[in-house]
Amino acid sequence: MKLAMIGFGQAGGKIVDRFLDYDDRTNSGIVRAAIAVNSAKADLMGLENIPQENRVLIGQARVKGHGVGADNELGAAVAEEDIDEVQNAIDAIPTHEVDAFLVVAGLGGGTGSGGAPVLAKHLKRIFTIPVYGLGVLPGTDEGGIYTLNAARSFQTFVHEVDNLLVFDNDSWRQTGESVEGGYDQINEEIVRRFGILFGAGEVGDGQEVAESVVDSSEIINTLSGGGVSTVGFASEEVELNTGGGLLSRFTGDDGGSDNLDAANTTNRITSLVRKAALGRLTLPCEIEGTERALLVLSGPSEYLNRKGIERGRKWLEEETGSMEVRGGDFPRQEPEVAAAILLSGVTNVPRIKRLQQVAIEAQENIDDIQQESEDNLESLVEDDEDELEPLF
Ligand code: GDP
Repeated sequence: MKLAMIGFGQAGGKIVDRFLDYDDRTNSGIVRAAIAVNSAKADLMGLENIPQENRVLIGQARVKGHGVGADNELGAAVAEEDIDEVQNAIDAIPTHEVDAFLVVAGLGGGTGSGGAPVLAKHLKRIFTIPVYGLGVLPGTDEGGIYTLNAARSFQTFVHEVDNLLVFDNDSWRQTGESVEGGYDQINEEIVRRFGILFGAGEVGDGQEVAESVVDSSEIINTLSGGGVSTVGFASEEVELNTGGGLLSRFTGDDGGSDNLDAANTTNRITSLVRKAALGRLTLPCEIEGTERALLVLSGPSEYLNRKGIERGRKWLEEETGSMEVRGGDFPRQEPEVAAAILLSGVTNVPRIKRLQQVAIEAQENIDDIQQESEDNLESLVEDDEDELEPLF
């Protein structure tokens, strides 16, 4: 599937930048165009792969390239004011070659949190192709204001996109790592998962055609109907055995073919599907009640088979209770077999309910603190008996 990716704010820009790198490394051909939008000049300058002409600075009149802080209402306002600047960058990309837009943003900050939903609304008004969002939830240790921003942005963003894919930083935090180092790792996990999903169906020159191919229309159908999506993923290393590949030459074995027998292949696939669905999802949730799902099995074609995928698909149908579970393979000459599962239209998500609860508490605290500080200032400035008069 060919995407036009727009990274809004720092996290959004960095993730799209990373998608370009992934595309380069794996030749997956999913990023047809990449744009970064930000109100902070320094963040745009820090990007590595997005072309200079596709980096759009907004809000200059108001914030002079210094960003909006964590004020997502200001982020939304500058996005609206400067939407033409973003549109100019979009006009320069070949949108007729694109299957969908993907607007990427961290929902806890200011620019992306406020701006991404504004952009999604704008794109939906102008284009007929789907507009998807990839929203990143903040870690719970980031504090009340980030949680409040994320809860408000989430609610707005879901309504403006055709589907909101969610990644929760909180469940991917690694202890003992620097924040930056941690994000590098997390961003790699993000592009790997979504890269395999969206890469299915993009068969490039010289690549093998899948036995039961997943094409873009199946991804679009799985995401249609809207709502919130999460992705599960599991992989297992395998030896690349075809065409006298490196490993087979080194191992020089003949016993390797045992591993490739059909039963093993099927079992490997079904166990990967279970691990992917029951392991850590990009947004933790109950998979029962999922409306639609798509299972993509990637790996060297000799490690993929129809029976395994069919069993995995059936198992997913039973676990989710969904009647709409699609599945297919995505042959890649990589030394791993991976199962990526898109669960679309999830509704039982305790993490979102908790986020909203903490956000409401944060909002009440902020109101209380503001009221208190107004009262305190009043009692400091005014004399007790009201004997002094202001000048004017
Ligand atoms: P903005 O520039 O005002 O949109 O704000 P940021 O994108 O800097 O931050 C918004 C939120 O995104 C933060 O609260 C973090 O939760 C998250 N975040 C920031 N940088 C990254 C990143 O590189 N990767 C990921 N996964 N999350 C990030």
